[in-house]
Order: sequence, then C-alpha cells, then structure tokens
Amino acid sequence: MRKVLILGATGSIGSQALDVIERNNDLMCVGLSAATDWERLVELAERHRVERVALADPYAAAKASESWEGGEVLSGAEGLMRLVVETDCDIVLNAIVGSAGLGPTVAALGEGIDLALANKESLVVGGDLVMQLAEGTGAHLIPVDSEHSALYQLLASERPGTVDKLVLTASGGPFRGQSRDQLGEVSVEQALKHPTWEMGGKITIDSATLMNKGLEVIEAHHLFGTEYDAIDVVVHPQSIIHSLIQLNDGSTLAHLGYPDMRVPISYALNHPSREDVPLRPLDLVELGALTFEAPDRDAFPCLRLAEAAGRAGGSAPCVMNAANEVAVQAFLGGELSFLGIPEVIERTLEVMPADPFGHFSQIPAVDDEARAKAREFVGQVPVR
Ligand code: NAD
Ligand code: MG
Repeated sequence: MRKVLILGATGSIGSQALDVIERNNDLMCVGLSAATDWERLVELAERHRVERVALADPYAAAKASESWEGGEVLSGAEGLMRLVVETDCDIVLNAIVGSAGLGPTVAALGEGIDLALANKESLVVGGDLVMQLAEGTGAHLIPVDSEHSALYQLLASERPGTVDKLVLTASGGPFRGQSRDQLGEVSVEQALKHPTWEMGGKITIDSATLMNKGLEVIEAHHLFGTEYDAIDVVVHPQSIIHSLIQLNDGSTLAHLGYPDMRVPISYALNHPSREDVPLRPLDLVELGALTFEAPDRDAFPCLRLAEAAGRAGGSAPCVMNAANEVAVQAFLGGELSFLGIPEVIERTLEVMPADPFGHFSQIPAVDDEARAKAREFVGQVPVR
C-alpha cells in the first residue's frame, strides 16, 4: 500500500488525484491540504478517512477545527510544512497553484520523500536548487504535467547523448490563430474557456496567454537538464500528442492519449508500475487528423518572455512568475486587459535584473519585490 499526501486537494488536479486513489487498491490517502475551502476539505477528509489536514488560511483552519472531530487541523504555511514532514507518507502530490507550492516541494524533497509534482511554478521559481536538493536526498521527482509526464516516459529508455530535442506540444488555447489586435478585446469569460482541458482558473489563463507553455519550457529544462536551444514548442490543437523526443538516428518518439490528467497523475503515483485508468482506447480513425502549427510569439508574447527569462536564469524566472501571478489575478479581477498581462510582466522584468540564486532563502524577498513592482504596473497599464 502506497501512502499518498495530497496538497491542493480541493483543486482540479487534487480532485482528479482523489479519483485515481479511490479506484486503486494499492494507493491510500493519508493527508490533505487546501487554501481556504475548509468545508470541502473536511468532507474529503471524512470520505477518505484521513486524520490530518492543513489549511493555508488560519481562519478557515479554525472553522475546520471547530466543526470536525475526526482528526487534527494544521494551520497556515507552517502547518502545511508540518503536514509534509510529520505525516508518514511514501509520496507527496503537490497540486498547489503558484509559487506558494515551492515551500512544500522543498520540504518533501528535503526529507527524501518522493514527489509527484503538478506545481510547475516550484521548478520555474527555484529549479536549479530544487533539482540539486532532489539529487542530494535521493528523492524521486516525477512530473504530473501531461507534457512532462510524456517526456519522462519517452526518455526513460534512452541513453545519454541520444536525444537531440524535446518537443512540447501546446493546444494554443482559446485564442489560437487570433492577431494581437483581436486579443485587445477578449473577456475573462472567453479566456476561461479552454478548448481541450478543464483546469483551475490560473492555469487556464496561462494557457490562453501561452505563459503556461513558457513555464513548461523552464520546467522541462530543469527536470531533464536540457538546454533551452534543444526545447521546441509546437501548437497541436487536438491535445492528443502530449509531447515528443527527437533522437540522433532520425527517429521521433511521441506519447499519445486523450487529454485526461488522471493518466499522468496515475503514472506519477504508481511509478514504476502502471495501473488501470478508465479511459476509452485511442481511436485514431475517429480522430482522422492531427494538426500542427508554429506558436505565434508576437500575438502571445508571454511565451517569448518566459523563454527569455529561462535563458537569463538566476532570479529572472522567479520575477517573471511573480509578475505573471499578479497580472493573471488582476485580469481575473477586471483590473487589467488580456494584453496587459505580458506588458506587466515585461515591465517588471525590465526593472528587476537577473541575480544568481545561491540558496532558497533568497527567493521570498525577490518574489515579494516582483509582486510589489507588478502591482504598481497593473495600476499604470490601461484596463482596455
Ligand atoms: P486549482 O486552482 O484548481 O487548485 C489549486 C489548489 O491549491 C486548491 O486546492 C487550493 O486550495 C490550493 N491552494 C491555492 N493557493 C494556495 C496557497 N497559497 N497555499 C496552499 N494551498 C493553496 O489549480 P489546478 O488547476 O489543480 O493546478 C494546480 C497545479 O497543477 C498548478 O501549478 C498547475 O499549473 C498544475 N497543472 C494543472 C493541470 C490541470 O489540468 N489542472 C495540468 C497541469 C499542471
Ligand atoms: Mg501541461
């Protein structure tokens, strides 16, 4: 029996992970966390007979403690850390959204606990240090992001020196094919309608701006130790091919499947075995055609900005990520236009040059400063 701790249990990935666990007799859930939705978290704790939960919001934690007698409720960022280091578990699934996921990533890997990582922001913000930590403690880091799960599986049987390129596929989001001018008018509602994946709000907006693919390029760079020149992005609107690798002998290998995050979640939680996931077999004839196009980095500057920040290295990806989190929040709140998102990120990067990161303790100050700068720029960029 593998004991799984789920962080971000009330979210899109967290809920799908609980579905995977319920269908699998070899997995059991031993702890859960969420930000604020204590009622849902208590409901999940009861359903999965979990005795420890953590809520990031102290008020929500107090409410949960009052109303739930089935176990212990931990509170705040410190409670989340305690949940990770004090719970007897075999693997942590980090499905928290945003750079708030970095602390738990570091806590799990630091304790030598295997980590199924959905929280790509951990690698964007502190990639070099996170990978060094995993190497140092011997903990396995298994990606949950569908493209990276695909790459992880494709790379598993290749020897060093045989892989020329990683090719990440992108759906293109709801605004694929639109020009920069057309994007000036898009609404929050339109941006939240993803054509192929159902996900949390932040990553859905990241998919619409192509920032999600930019974050994923940085994620791939760290996970697989691949140079940026050897990571390509191709738009593939059907989201059937999850990623590809190009090899030195002219072969290209691809990973295919219907878009369903339970597949990479199940892979990460069961690794190295594979368990059943209730999905119909891929029907290529029914699909008929798979299509591909180049990403438009002019209409969607977030991809370009993320790639540049990745190449600059050091604190640049952290600054870029913080500015993006602020800008996406502002867009969702009606304070910023869609095209204002890359503008805020670009301005923030301009005023905060890349410094090397030598230790995790340097990250929070940079993250805070970038958020403060980005908030100032949100106020200066016109809403429409
Ligand atoms: P979501 O918004 O649906 O859920 C986020 C979860 O994190 C919730 O349980 C929330 O309570 C918790 N949370 C939010 N802020 C927190 C904080 N400050 N401290 C502690 N917990 C906090 O998000 P999601 O779509 O499930 O995405 C989660 C992560 O997985 C993101 O990093 C995303 O990029 C990545 N991811 C998601 C998908 C997907 O299909 N949803 C696919 C690939 C990667
Ligand atoms: Mg992805």
